[in-house]
Amino acid sequence: MIFDEYTIKSLIRPVPDFPKPGIVFRDITPLYHSPRAMRMVADSLIQRYVESPVTHIGAIDARGFLLGAVLAYELNKPLVLFRKVGKLPAETLCEAYETEYGEAHLEVHKGALGEGDQVLLLDDLIATGGTFLAAASLIKQMGAEVYEAAAIIDLPDLGGSRKMQDADIPVFTLCAFE
Ligand code: AMP
Repeated sequence: MIFDEYTIKSLIRPVPDFPKPGIVFRDITPLYHSPRAMRMVADSLIQRYVESPVTHIGAIDARGFLLGAVLAYELNKPLVLFRKVGKLPAETLCEAYETEYGEAHLEVHKGALGEGDQVLLLDDLIATGGTFLAAASLIKQMGAEVYEAAAIIDLPDLGGSRKMQDADIPVFTLCAFE
C-alpha cells in the first residue's frame, strides 16, 4: 500500500494539556482504528527493513510493542521488549532517563541481546529522545548495536532526533509535527 503522510497525520489526534499542562499529547489511537492507515505504517516499515541486516526487533513499552510485534512477525525476527520498571520478571539491566514528564527507567532482560546483534528499535514517537537513548544504552551494554531507531512521529522542536543522530544512532520517522 502506498504511504500517504497526509492520511497518517490526519489520524494523529492532538490532545492539549495531557498528561500535564503545556504538553500536546499526540494520540495515535485513531490511526490504530484505521486498518488502512495501520497497514500503510506497517508496510512502509516492512519495506524499509526487509532486506536489511537487522537481526532483532527491539520494542519500547508500550506503544512500541504494537509496531514491534507486527515487524517481528513479518520480518521473522526475535522480539526484545524494553519495559518500564518492575514489569519484567527475570534478571534485568536498568537505565534511568529524563522525559518531558519527569524521570523514568527502562529495563530489558539480561542476555536478551549479545555481541553482533543489529537491533531495529521501535516506538511511536520521539520527543526529547530520552527513551530511545536509554534503550540504545541498554543495547550497547549487551554488546549489540542499534541498526536504526524508527518511530511514527518526530517532534523535531524537542530536539530528540537530533540528539540521537549526534549520538550516532540512525533515525527514521514517518511524519513530524513542528
Ligand atoms: P522522549 O523520551 O522524550 O523522546 O519521549 C518519548 C516517549 O514518551 C514515547 O514512548 C512516547 O510515547 C511518549 N511521549 C512523549 N511525549 C509525547 C507526546 N507529546 N505525545 C505522545 N507521546 C509522547
